Amino acid sequence: MKRLAGKTALVTGASRGIGRGIAERLAQDGARVAVHYGSNEAAAKETVSAIERAGGSAFAIGAELGVPGDAAALWAAFDAHADGLDILVNNAGIGTSHSFAEADEDEHDRLFAVNVKAPFFITQLGAERLRDGGRVINISSGLSRAAVMPQIMTYAMTKGALDVFTQNLSKVLGARGITVNSVAPGIVDTDVNAAWLRGEENKQAWEGAAAMSALGKVGTPQDIADAVAFLASEDGRWVTGHWLDATGGSLT
Ligand code: NDP
Repeated sequence: MKRLAGKTALVTGASRGIGRGIAERLAQDGARVAVHYGSNEAAAKETVSAIERAGGSAFAIGAELGVPGDAAALWAAFDAHADGLDILVNNAGIGTSHSFAEADEDEHDRLFAVNVKAPFFITQLGAERLRDGGRVINISSGLSRAAVMPQIMTYAMTKGALDVFTQNLSKVLGARGITVNSVAPGIVDTDVNAAWLRGEENKQAWEGAAAMSALGKVGTPQDIADAVAFLASEDGRWVTGHWLDATGGSLT
């Protein structure tokens, strides 16, 4: 029997990138997966189709995060398809291209609204739906532990806040046997990095990004998804309040 058979998972931001990789992997392990998206319904449907083609089960739910009432809207959409869940992956997030000198208040608020406030309230409202023995996995970043890209410090700060949430929440939900962990990717080949990383013209940037990893390559969504799958599984039951370095050794 597959190790997540009978479980239900919700992955925010699963229409593309790392979230899609996580959704596909959890479905491959037997979970029924809620594929959340913000605006790209077509991409979410494509993720659902890919899961179904591989023999898994999934459904798409849309809810824009970072706006008032976002968490309630997400759970209303979820409840229309499922009765409770076992695994919550707070993956949806946004980056910034503004440095310390360029940062403005609106963008600062937006980054914290999507990357910190939304996962907090999604989890708060989701706690009653999450079954005992469940999992909360927050997708952080290597940048919360190392100032290797100070030009995007506001983004790094949001992930630091998310990690503090992870640690504290592990104490709050631990009594119910629910583990709470952060998984921290390094540079991963997703749309968010496409403009500076993909294509022949960015070959040098790609090589530089690969060289940051001890393993000499740029990460893939699957690299992150496999780490998440461990924490989501029964094998991960004794790991909680932990920050898992999934940077391919970029911080060593
Ligand atoms: P992508 O930009 O490829 O995908 C983002 C996903 O989040 C999409 O599914 C998108 O939905 C959803 N999303 C974004 N903003 C919102 C919003 N306001 N409301 C609802 N949904 C939203 O991101 P990545 O896969 O690269 O990143 C995933 C996570 O990993 C993020 O938390 C990111 O910070 C983190 N991370 C990424 C790294 C990388 O190098 N890629 C490195 C370290 C951490 P839609 O398709 O509808 O737009």
